Amino acid sequence: MLTKQEIQHNLDIVNKQIADACLKSGRSRDEVELIAVSKMNPAEAVIMASECGQLIFGENKVQELCGKQPEVAEATGKEIEWHLIGHLQTNKVKDVVGKVRLIHSVDSVHLAEAIDKESAKKAVISDILLEVNIAGEESKYGLKPDEVLAAVTEIAKLKNVRIKGLMTVAPISDNPVSNRIYFKNLKNLSVDIGSKNIDNISMDVLSMGMTQDFETAIEEGATYVRVGTGIFGARDYSK
Ligand SMILES: *Cc1c(COP(=O)(O)O)cnc(C)c1O
Repeated sequence: MLTKQEIQHNLDIVNKQIADACLKSGRSRDEVELIAVSKMNPAEAVIMASECGQLIFGENKVQELCGKQPEVAEATGKEIEWHLIGHLQTNKVKDVVGKVRLIHSVDSVHLAEAIDKESAKKAVISDILLEVNIAGEESKYGLKPDEVLAAVTEIAKLKNVRIKGLMTVAPISDNPVSNRIYFKNLKNLSVDIGSKNIDNISMDVLSMGMTQDFETAIEEGATYVRVGTGIFGARDYSK
């Protein structure tokens, strides 16, 4: 785990890069929010980052999110905003509804229906994004681009979920700029769906870009970037 000074230093760099990417692309800095991806880092790392002023965090597993959330809340006393960014199984829906600002990884109508049902039960409305496998990678979760409109149309009928936009996990690449085409394609898809004026949904949110390529994603319209390694350092997969 990094020290608080190191986390502060990394946050300063990432925030500067976000500001520069906004400037370069003629966007306002407040159009882009940074999600600090704390997966595989302990609650202490989240607490330190919150002391550095970072208050939005993302986790990719429900169990890890539910473990850290109360610990962080108790230690900081701050309003921390949590996002679920990783694959969600239907049987975990009950554990996450009501606990996060946004679920980024809805990849089927079936899953949206489960979130809707649980949200109704808890009397909440859950904001969601649809995850799109924009590069058509075999190994990735997400709807195929040509399935998204039909899914949006179905999910729009549900009362307790609100589609806010789209999310993608771009391919791992040594050359971040090579993902530009995927970010452009996701943006185009979102504009296309937005233009259909479907009731009950919006396409204002685009969650795309990670440590390797978030500046390119911002240039192509990202409103949330999800940065883990760039803030908390390399994850230790040996444990
Ligand atoms: C881990 C993860 C990230 C952050 O990845 P880094 O390369 O460490 O910035 C972003 N999005 C999702 C969905 C992730 O699982």
